[in-house]
Parts: sequence; structure tokens; C-alpha cells
Amino acid sequence: MAHAGLAAVRRGLAELDREGLRRARRVLDSPQGPVVREGGRELANFASNDYLGLANHPRIVAAAREAVDRFGFGAGASPVVVGHSRAHEEAEVAFARFTGLPRALLFPSGYAANLGILAALADRSAAVFGDRLNHACLVDGALLSRADFHRYPHGDLAALDALLARSKAGVRVIASDTVFSMDGDVAPLADLLALAERHDAWLVLDDAHGIGVLGGGRGSLAEFGLASPRIVCMATLGKALGGYGAFVAGDADMIEWLMQRARTYVFSTALPPAAAAVATAAMALIDADPSIVRALHARIGEFRRACEAQGVAASSATAIQPVVVGDSGRAVALSARLREAGLLVPAIRPPTVPQGTARLRISLSAAHTRVQVESLVSALAQALDDGSAR
Ligand SMILES: *Cc1c(COP(=O)(O)O)cnc(C)c1O
Repeated sequence: MAHAGLAAVRRGLAELDREGLRRARRVLDSPQGPVVREGGRELANFASNDYLGLANHPRIVAAAREAVDRFGFGAGASPVVVGHSRAHEEAEVAFARFTGLPRALLFPSGYAANLGILAALADRSAAVFGDRLNHACLVDGALLSRADFHRYPHGDLAALDALLARSKAGVRVIASDTVFSMDGDVAPLADLLALAERHDAWLVLDDAHGIGVLGGGRGSLAEFGLASPRIVCMATLGKALGGYGAFVAGDADMIEWLMQRARTYVFSTALPPAAAAVATAAMALIDADPSIVRALHARIGEFRRACEAQGVAASSATAIQPVVVGDSGRAVALSARLREAGLLVPAIRPPTVPQGTARLRISLSAAHTRVQVESLVSALAQALDDGSAR
């Protein structure tokens, strides 16, 4: 019996192979950290979003253990049924205090949070405006909402202003990454808020790469001193905070609405209580020891100075450092070459980034040493100079 669906899948896989775009996973035999083990091999890890080295920090591991002892593992149900434990409650209160926002809600993941936010705040009669380089889940959330969806060129405030001015939608939503995930650049947040005020819009900010990194760890809003009941702030826990899950925070009525209406909140099992306890512990750790966030920024400074000395273009002020090489094949060859040298640096290709902008994406961590960072830059400069990588 012919199976049209499976035939289409096989054609799709063959096409990925032809274009050199099929992804393979590596199997790690160690925790996340500045060095990871794959089989018998140790690799310096510049691929993880564990920007503060918390994923395997003793205090985080201890918080998870204690929570498992107290609450067991599974949450058992949606938070609105019986899945919301004391650990979840405490994490939400801690996040609101940590960011200075009125109220917070714990979502199953950042991806789920963005889908839930956009589909709950926007409907068919609304309009959503998103930066072209936004993360996939802000795009998918806008599509799921069935609102009119407009994408503006990256960082182009004049284009966004013009789109907003033309819109007749009753509810308008601007959605943007704060720190763009493949470039490490920061959105013009104060200007976006000014546009949200001028055009009476929500401003949904995805702080996945800002939380733990900017504002002394409190995120992009703290970094730029921004506050407004128009801001909906989403922060993932899977990156700098070393855990899993996500918070959404902002105006108390808006959060109450998400709790009632965000489908990815209501119709999904609550996070394991241990994930909530880990989030609380990560925020306490950042509060108690500001040197952790400072160490990340020291590594960022060292990386940039080493790049400048070696003639490698690097301009990001965050933990994400792209080295754009253009051609996908070249990016993959460079990544393979660095790997031979014991350095894990992923090649990022279309469709994750626009055509012709394939790159290496280096992630820095507070857990790296200065020597590791400088060795990386030397190896990188050598690989970029070397014709064999082309
Ligand atoms: C990783 C990421 C997400 C998704 O968060 P998860 O908690 O991993 O689902 C959302 N937005 C951005 C910008 C991200 O980088």
C-alpha cells in the first residue's frame, strides 16, 4: 500500500542531505560545563547557553535534590488543576521580586510561553508586529494567534512606526527578542517602548538571552531601567539560569489573563517542582554573589580584546558572539576544524539565519577561564586564515 505521507518525509530527508542541512546530535557523557565529554573525548564547550555555569553548579544541583526529596518528581497535572506546588508559588514570587515586575507566571518552556502569550493577547482582530530576526517561537505565536502579522526589517524603527501608524487593529502587539539569539545584539528597547506608548500597543519582550546576563543578571529591563504596564517580559530558565522552564512577568491583570487563557499554560502539565526550585535557587545565587555575572562580562571583554588583537571581527556585548562567514559549507568546515582542535563551536546555517549569513556562534560562560577564551580566539584566527577551511 502506497504511503504518500512517508514518501514525502523521505523526499524531505533526501533534500536535507543534498543541501548539507541534515542535523545530527552529539551524545554527551558529562554534565554541561566549560568542558564536556563525548565518548572518550573532552571538548571545550563554546556551544551551550549555560552563560553563568549554573547548569551543574553545586547549589543548583543541591536545590534540585532537596526539591525532589520534598515534592517527588512529577507535577502530576496542569497548574490550574493540582500541579501548582509551593515550589512553583515561591519561584513566581521570587521572579517578580528579582525583576521588579508586579507578578510572574511559570510556563513549561520559553517556546510554550511565547505561543501562550501571543495567542492569549492577540486574536483575529489584532495585529502583531515582529522583528525579522525574532526567535522562531515568537513567529509561531503570532501565526497561532491568527492576528494580522507584520514583520519589520531587523531593528528598523521607522518601518515599525509606519506599520503601526497604518494599522487599524483594535489590539496591537509589538514582539521582539531583547538580545537576538544568533547575533547577540540588543534591540533598541527604549525606542520600542516609546513606539508601544505612541501607538497604544503591548510590548512583548523575549529576554531569553538577557536574563542572567544584562542588568547585573536581572535582565534587559533592569539594564535599561525600563518599566511599563505595556511590557510583557518572557525569560527562559534553560539558559543563563541553568534550569528548565520560563517565566512571564508584567502587569498583574495581564498575568491573571494568561493564567486563565494562555492555552500552553492551562493545557500543559506544570513543570516538575524541582525545576521551579532550581529557578528560585539560581536567582538567590545571583543575588548573593554578583561576581558570577561579573565573571561572564570579564570573559566577554577578554574575547573582544583577543579578537581585536587577532583581526577577528567581533562586536557583541553579550554572551553570544557570532563570527559570520557567509557560506554554509565554509561555516561547517570551520566548525569541524575547531572540533579537531578540541573546541565545540557550532556552525549556524539557514534557515536559522538568513541566506548568505552562515556563521559560527560562540557562547561565552562565566565558567570559562581567560586562558580557554584566548586559546579559542587563537584557534579561530588560525582556522579563518587557513585556506584549507575554505
Ligand atoms: C531558547 C529560546 C527560546 C525558547 O526557550 P525554551 O525555554 O528553550 O523553550 C525562546 N526565545 C529565544 C530568543 C530563545 O533563544
